[in-house]
Amino acid sequence: MPPDYDAIVVGAGLVGSCAALALHREGRRVLLLDQGPAPRAPDGDARALVLSAASIEILRGLGLWSRLEAHATAIRHIRVSDRGGPGALALDARDSGLDAMGWACPADILLYELRVAMADALGEHVCWDSRYLGHRAGDDAIEIEVAQGDTVRMLHAALLIGADGNASPVRVAAGIATDGYDYGQHALIARVEVTRPQPHTAFEHFTREGPLAMIPCGGARYVSVQCLHEGRALAALRLDDDAYGAELARRFGTRLGHITVAGPRRAHALARQRARRLTDTRLVLIGNAANTMHPNAAQGLNLGLRDVATLAACIGAEDDAGLAATLSRYAAARAPDQRNTVGFSDLLAQGFRSRLCAVSATRRLALTLADLCPGAKQRFVQEASGLAALARSTAAVRP
Ligand SMILES: Cc1cc2nc3c(=O)[nH]c(=O)nc-3n(C[C@H](O)[C@H](O)[C@H](O)COP(=O)(O)OP(=O)(O)OC[C@H]3O[C@@H](n4cnc5c(N)ncnc54)[C@H](O)[C@@H]3O)c2cc1C
Repeated sequence: MPPDYDAIVVGAGLVGSCAALALHREGRRVLLLDQGPAPRAPDGDARALVLSAASIEILRGLGLWSRLEAHATAIRHIRVSDRGGPGALALDARDSGLDAMGWACPADILLYELRVAMADALGEHVCWDSRYLGHRAGDDAIEIEVAQGDTVRMLHAALLIGADGNASPVRVAAGIATDGYDYGQHALIARVEVTRPQPHTAFEHFTREGPLAMIPCGGARYVSVQCLHEGRALAALRLDDDAYGAELARRFGTRLGHITVAGPRRAHALARQRARRLTDTRLVLIGNAANTMHPNAAQGLNLGLRDVATLAACIGAEDDAGLAATLSRYAAARAPDQRNTVGFSDLLAQGFRSRLCAVSATRRLALTLADLCPGAKQRFVQEASGLAALARSTAAVRP
């Protein structure tokens, strides 16, 4: 007898919700479960997540972009600067033939809208307040143990998809080890307003304490992302709004005029973590469960959405969604993109936090040289769009 579901997705975060929707649209029988409650409203996550052109293409394909577009701000220019000296880099989407280098979307609205759309499509096949406890893989199906309140039940599927975030209980239960690095930093997020906004322009400013990004969210609104060593980040969380605005101005300068803090701050610990394997018997890891990275290059979700598109293309036409050969094809197709994307974020994080004079001089020189070299800038902007990586990995899984 075939199992109840082609796939059970654990984790209704941004990646798991999109995965469930993508497989549902491929005509697969999907169940999605999450330990959290059913969404009633955006949860107040103040981050602005920057979506790449490839992510927009994926969301459009899932019929989601029309729900999100009104909330998103196109980023057409990026200004990178280094506090230690004159090195600076100006990136413009038009020079690379693109309309935008990315779209900044409020994280809470993004998650809420994706979950609502996914829940509308999947109906009774979404289980909230449901915690994955463990699994047992067999030849023809995988059995999954789920707790809902005091009730524990067993579910059966051809494939278990672990989209359960960086702590991934699915990955742990499968015995898949990780390689990681703790940056010893926190990203401090705050919604702010400025008196001299520069439309559609994002800033990445490197300082001795760590990078500070300003992401445009329309009109005078920006989201500031300040990376600081743990102790300093926790102290900065305790500052009142005026003092924190002054701290941002001290580090960022006056390019955007006066900065006023316009909402509560939150800190996120920063670490890189990669699963040593993406698959196990009838099991695959996607999103942060597979790869977690420093947010400096704004690539974590974008990478996870490329996991989703590739997985849907890979298992879409298979009778048995959990065949080992299919999962191997998926893992091989995703390896280069995941390695390159995590490696690039790490290179930025390590290179730009060094206080050594030689490293900071090299960094300023690299920024200046890159700015003088239009070919390199175009290539960088096109790679960051994720379009080539998406095309490569979906082509690699097609029979
Ligand atoms: C400060 C910051 C800024 C960022 N900016 C960007 C950006 O601009 N662009 C970008 O592309 N990326 C960005 N990222 C990365 C991005 O946020 C993540 O890559 C993405 O949100 C990961 O989503 P996910 O669905 O894989 O995991 P998660 O969001 O962690 O979701 C995991 C889900 O699994 C559920 N779960 C866990 N355990 C269980 C269990 N036992 N049973 C049932 N459910 C369970 C959880 O409840 C949760 O809903 C940023 C990250 C940070 C920290």
